[in-house]
Amino acid sequence: MTYDLIIIGAGPAGLTASIYASCYHLLHIVIGRELGGQLQLAPDILNYPGFEKISGKELTERIINQLKKRGGELTIGSVVKIKSNNGLFEIEIQEGNKYQAKAIILATGTERRKLNVPGEGEYTSKGVHYCATCEKFDYEGKVCGVVGGANSAVQAAVELSQAASKVYIIYRGTQLRGDAVWLEQVEKHPNIEAIYNTVVTEIIGDGEKVTGVKIKSTSAGPAARVSQGDASSRSPQASSPNGSASLGSSSLASPTDNLLQLDKLFIEIGGVPGTALVIPLGVEVDPGGFIITDQKLATNVPGIFAAGDLVTFGYNLEQISSAVGLGARSAASAFAYLKGDKAPTVWGGSQIKR
Ligand SMILES: Cc1cc2nc3c(=O)[nH]c(=O)nc-3n(C[C@H](O)[C@H](O)[C@H](O)COP(=O)(O)OP(=O)(O)OC[C@H]3O[C@@H](n4cnc5c(N)ncnc54)[C@H](O)[C@@H]3O)c2cc1C
Repeated sequence: MTYDLIIIGAGPAGLTASIYASCYHLLHIVIGRELGGQLQLAPDILNYPGFEKISGKELTERIINQLKKRGGELTIGSVVKIKSNNGLFEIEIQEGNKYQAKAIILATGTERRKLNVPGEGEYTSKGVHYCATCEKFDYEGKVCGVVGGANSAVQAAVELSQAASKVYIIYRGTQLRGDAVWLEQVEKHPNIEAIYNTVVTEIIGDGEKVTGVKIKSTSAGPAARVSQGDASSRSPQASSPNGSASLGSSSLASPTDNLLQLDKLFIEIGGVPGTALVIPLGVEVDPGGFIITDQKLATNVPGIFAAGDLVTFGYNLEQISSAVGLGARSAASAFAYLKGDKAPTVWGGSQIKR
């Protein structure tokens, strides 16, 4: 069977593209490695319209139910190859099946970015983790480090601070960049301490588990430490090497490596776009590896569209609301490509062919 459209990736962008593809009566299937994408990692979504607070798992379930009610087809699989042949795309999944379509929407999101420092591979899952909020790791009463300074790092620190004895945010910048709602939470937790202008250079352990990290101040300035819970937390001060139980004996302001003793390290530095599949087809990406599209979310390769976190499209906001918007628009554009006509308005019940 040849589908009109295959959507690769079952995160918010891909799932929304399917709901709209159903509205447009396109014969389509979503192929995704797992349902929900990064939604599965988000325990408390506070900024998705219509839900004051919802877990990523529940939001996924709701979207999947809606997709199925609209008649969308969904399969779990990891796409390993896309071939282009006479205007058709052949898609092969790891599990062996092959699918054919006239158009593709790539909605493969991003993968967790690695630090690429010594010890990271050895201690992954032995104290090094890439999502503090995903599962209940054993961090009760432990000293935890979070690398990063944007939303996911800030959120992770808040989450960990509920059970951990101490949480260090290790950030190469001078100021945390999370949403105000999370920054306020950070300030309310005195066991969170931010170490600015600092990078992790090595993860060390006893062979079984992580015991600490080596950190180094950046050229941007001396490492500056700020305990949370006081008014100064948003404007870091110069480091005071006195009185830190967990730091090695050298001053943080020293340009040499320092040892920070930790039980767990959570690396929360964002993601890299999942574009490897379409690079061999000649799809253009920006210097960061994100897919370049036009305003219709069409790539430079006819029939290939992209939506969600992996699209550069100016300054994409890596959020669910943005991903669902791009997913909807990509389906409309795929319709226009396939039918040679503008996508119809899809208001009211008449849009649905059950
Ligand atoms: C911890 C955390 C908390 C967050 N909290 C919030 C929040 O509160 N509010 C908010 O708005 N946003 C939040 N986000 C961001 C939000 O989840 C993302 O912006 C959104 O999920 C992006 O959607 P997407 O569909 O583009 O990509 P993704 O959600 O990344 O989904 C892409 C999917 O494609 C799959 N895929 C990749 N390659 C292949 C392949 N070859 N074959 C098949 N499938 C493939 C991936 O496995 C993944 O399931 C959070 C993210 C994280 C990590």
